[in-house]
Amino acid sequence: MHSRKKPMSDRFVSRREKLLRVIKQAGVNALLVSGETNVSWLTGFSGDSTWLLLGPKVCVLVSDGRYETQISEECPGLDVVIRKPETKLHEAIAKVVQSAGIGCLGFESHLLTWAMAGDLQSVLPNVEFKPVAGKVEELRAVKDAEEIAKIRTAVDIAIRGFQVIRAMLTSEMTEVSVAHELEQTMRRFGAAGTSFETIVAANDRAALAHYRPGREPIGDCSMLLIDWGANLTGNYKSDLTRVLLFGKVTQKLAKVYQTVLEAQQRAIRSIRPGIKCEEVDKVAREYIRQQGYGRRFGHGLGHGIGLDIHEMPRLAPNSQTVLQPGMVVTVEPGIYLPRWGGVRIEDDILVTRDGAEVLSQSLPKDMESMLVD
Ligand code: ZN
Ligand code: ZN
Repeated sequence: MHSRKKPMSDRFVSRREKLLRVIKQAGVNALLVSGETNVSWLTGFSGDSTWLLLGPKVCVLVSDGRYETQISEECPGLDVVIRKPETKLHEAIAKVVQSAGIGCLGFESHLLTWAMAGDLQSVLPNVEFKPVAGKVEELRAVKDAEEIAKIRTAVDIAIRGFQVIRAMLTSEMTEVSVAHELEQTMRRFGAAGTSFETIVAANDRAALAHYRPGREPIGDCSMLLIDWGANLTGNYKSDLTRVLLFGKVTQKLAKVYQTVLEAQQRAIRSIRPGIKCEEVDKVAREYIRQQGYGRRFGHGLGHGIGLDIHEMPRLAPNSQTVLQPGMVVTVEPGIYLPRWGGVRIEDDILVTRDGAEVLSQSLPKDMESMLVD
């Protein structure tokens, strides 16, 4: 029989096979996967409150009645235990662990709450618990062709949304209305929503890292920072930042802008398989420091994107992860001057076999292109 396209379920089977190798290396009989996104990546299930127990001899989802139908549709062929309303989650899990004869159970120690760990240990007194942290996240960092295609779509929708919003900007618009229009436009182009709460920040507000858009008219601002992304059905995401410039650009603003842009381009050029994340970060950080703004770049250079908006790998000082083909990261240096403003430029980059591809290449970022009259 010839199959032209891998059936969807195969993808999840091969992901679980990869994780099984990790589980064996970790020396546990099974791993209790509690992270919502991790469960989703391993099974295709898109709901919550559902855990996966995976080992060489066991693969079962533990869920509740709300999700019975959804699981049968999204994860055909997968074993499921639906707990009764009166059975607590840890009790249902204990039953499954016991009937699978597991003596040593790995758990996601970076995600499991202290309370849940205590509950599980109390009902499984004879089971040895072993922390296994971040393993599914490590696997998720390398995207397959289908995931890359989805991220590409999420990037394209974000770009088209930005272009529309840019064309309709007026001085009467507020940061909030720009954010709403952008979100609506992306939805019209097929997004399920935004990757995160859109940041639209004028002038000095652009220096605030977690700024929420306000209701003052943009008026005669000189810079407008927009950090936005599209989230697709199925949850693959994009994450971009541009700074629009209004009126006559001061020397100071031009210097800051060009410094950030040059730092970003240098960092992007350094991306290739085999390079450590901290080295990529250093390329941008060093350049910004040389230009005299070292203290004004106070965050990591970038992060992986995928099902989550922030995932592995992290491009940051001390990040030892080595880049591999299939990883998708943002590169987003910034310079922020309190009470003045800030510039950040962010693109989404795919690590390829021999270098890197800027997925958001078609969205200009040179200073001329950012000028709005
Ligand atoms: Zn961003
Ligand atoms: Zn980002």
